[in-house]
Amino acid sequence: MNVAFLTLGCKVNFYETGKMEKLFEESGHNIVPFEDYADIYIVNTCTVTNIADRKSRKMLHKAKRLNPYAVIVAAGCYADSAIKKGEADKSIDIFIQNKDKPDIVSIVCTEAAKRIKDKAPVYVSSINHQLPASHTRAYIKIQDGCTQYCTYCIIPYVRGGLKSRDVESVVKEAAGLAANGYKEIVITGIHISSYGAVTDNADEFVKLQGKPLLALLKELNGIDGIERIRLGSLEPRIISTGFIKELSSIPKICPHFHLSLQSGSDTVLKRMNRHYTAKEYLDGLSITRKYFGNPAITTDIITGFPGETEKEFEETMDFAKKAGFAKIHVFKYSRRYGTIADKMDGQVSESIKSERSTRLSGLERELGIWYQDNALKEHEKVLFEEITEINSKKYIVGYNERYIRIAVPAESIPGAESLCNTIADVKITGRINGEILTGCYSPATIY
Ligand code: SF4
Repeated sequence: MNVAFLTLGCKVNFYETGKMEKLFEESGHNIVPFEDYADIYIVNTCTVTNIADRKSRKMLHKAKRLNPYAVIVAAGCYADSAIKKGEADKSIDIFIQNKDKPDIVSIVCTEAAKRIKDKAPVYVSSINHQLPASHTRAYIKIQDGCTQYCTYCIIPYVRGGLKSRDVESVVKEAAGLAANGYKEIVITGIHISSYGAVTDNADEFVKLQGKPLLALLKELNGIDGIERIRLGSLEPRIISTGFIKELSSIPKICPHFHLSLQSGSDTVLKRMNRHYTAKEYLDGLSITRKYFGNPAITTDIITGFPGETEKEFEETMDFAKKAGFAKIHVFKYSRRYGTIADKMDGQVSESIKSERSTRLSGLERELGIWYQDNALKEHEKVLFEEITEINSKKYIVGYNERYIRIAVPAESIPGAESLCNTIADVKITGRINGEILTGCYSPATIY
């Protein structure tokens, strides 16, 4: 059968889609593009915001329009949440929870037949690990679940308790990726700071001081062919001198850290049930900068959390300037049914959320350019990923270790395509589109 996938949401979802595609291929099915005519459409959904819910449903409805006779499958977080709420949707034949993703082939093949017979939506209830889309950078999922229970977040309810993969299986997978030519791996999970935690205690990872994660990263660092190891989102509380010092001794770790802030106001952080203060977060940044020079610090910030006053929002704006973020993912607070924040008084109007998001996004662009101007050296090592068109001109583009996107005019390089998935020394010469750097390619320095 022809099976089409579409992925929404986080890196973990993209990783898990790769795994599910592989399972279908191994069972003799063909993977086709989502826009094609398929027998089975699977949308790996997201429920992190109301918009994510809407998009998940929209894509499932689109699949139904592409082939009204196809089996339409909602997999992942939106499906988990819909099952809990008892939601049905006549366009969706099967809901598959995260925990049942490894069994998706048999579920879809057997339960689809049942669905057709009973004329009712089938609720079935994980994937653990595999292959991403690009052939330069691969995601590896090392962990699932979160027990932090931030008051705005539905994830602990839909992903469940903490589960870590053993070191051997992660190393084996990474070695396989290296053998297939991947040069960069991105460590992902729902809460990778909790890697190796054996209880669901929300503070256990702090006591562990990141030791299991460090042990895993050292093993991964030893794999030939893997040139870069990038970390997914880290919880600020994992940062300590001991952790960062040891991390900086692992040569392949990229100086790029995503530390979710969410708010720069202590009172908002408290309402969010985030277990750190703005000062503790800043102290963590100082430690990280001491050992990694000028790393890219990226973050997420929510605007319009219940009760957020103008003064609290201004505290976040001031904090962002002090922190000098390289990139901020700005999210408007979105009420999620079943969370504590959904029931809080002082819900902020959409217009105020939008206005604050616009202000923070403006600051984010300024900070991003400031960071690039300060972090870029005359020469940068770029892992080229693809040929793309910018302003009607072809460029070969890739990222440096700090995750700054760098583009080089493709016509200046004979056979530019063949350089995808190589690391090259690029001389930085200027800026295009206000954010992408362009450089000269120096053929003598391919790594
Ligand atoms: S740390 Fe907080 S925001 Fe992140 S997944 Fe866990 S509960 Fe959600």
